[in-house]
Amino acid sequence: MSESSLRVVWVYPDLLSTYGDQGNVLVVERRARQRRIPVTRIDVRSDQPVPTSGDIYLIGGGEDRPQRLAAERLRRDKGLNRAVDNGAIVFSVCAGYQILGHEFINDLGRPEPGLGLLDVVSARGEGERCVGEVLADIDPDLGLPPLTGFENHQGVTRLGPSAKPFARVRIGNGNGTGDGTEGAYQETVFGTYMHGPVMARNPAIADLLIKLALDAKALPPVDNHWYEQLRAERIAAATQSA
Ligand code: GLN
Repeated sequence: MSESSLRVVWVYPDLLSTYGDQGNVLVVERRARQRRIPVTRIDVRSDQPVPTSGDIYLIGGGEDRPQRLAAERLRRDKGLNRAVDNGAIVFSVCAGYQILGHEFINDLGRPEPGLGLLDVVSARGEGERCVGEVLADIDPDLGLPPLTGFENHQGVTRLGPSAKPFARVRIGNGNGTGDGTEGAYQETVFGTYMHGPVMARNPAIADLLIKLALDAKALPPVDNHWYEQLRAERIAAATQSA
């Protein structure tokens, strides 16, 4: 933690926040406050510089044009890259995930450079758009329960040797390349295709980010009743739709 409170930065809510991805910020804030960890939330619009001293950065999904604008501004700004150099944690969803990679195909059909924070490259999928409920197993090294989420993307993402798959799909597409992987992570940078919002369905991810930021082995337990109910509902829906 850089100061006396956990600094949670929500990057470009004006461009990147589809399917309620804002919920991720709310869940991280709440899970920290429930443990009496003071939190400062910083919303950074796309006309503002990205601060470099945050602890946890969250980026959501977006439509193709806002995604290109966000990538252009983040490349020019460089704040997010500097924050990662300083050891910050980044968790990104869908369009945000593609932006963190080396390249994606933009709304004009051209390759758009990303930030190179994840060793992944995204292309435009040839087949149908990947839409629907997903159930996946998160990399056992991360010690998290199964991942539940909702996906809606045309882009497909291939991992390079430095990125590890965040999860392996049981139901749904994830990265969409047919290799069964979903999302990617590399040291403190994470990417997923999961909306939901993903933290509301998987609060253990929010806890993981908080633990990494605090360099803590464990966090005091909190009541997970409502989260468990939501998880059970969504996992049943995914199983039925499969
Ligand atoms: N525009 C990207 C795609 O379709 C991301 C979509 C999203 O963030 N939901 O692949």
